[in-house]
Amino acid sequence: MMDTRDRIEEVGQAMNAAGGSWGNGDGKTLLGDYISEEELWACTSCQACVDACPINISPMGIILDMRRSLIMEDSKAPRAHHRHVQ
Ligand code: SF4
Repeated sequence: MMDTRDRIEEVGQAMNAAGGSWGNGDGKTLLGDYISEEELWACTSCQACVDACPINISPMGIILDMRRSLIMEDSKAPRAHHRHVQ
């Protein structure tokens, strides 16, 4: 969540400095440059962070969305999720 917050702040500040346009961005991505795939798959979906958040952010939802993007957009499922067809 802290990496996500930092990236959102960085993008927001860059957009403000450029008069509201992000243009072609800076070439960085949240997943890869700020959050590693290993970190993403380390989440056990226990929901403790969702239950504990005092302002009702759903960290697990963000994690699941990034996982979904990795699998659906980049076809990058962890090896343990591969189905072995003989
Ligand atoms: S659901 Fe939240 S508290 Fe549980 S493992 Fe994932 S990130 Fe950690």
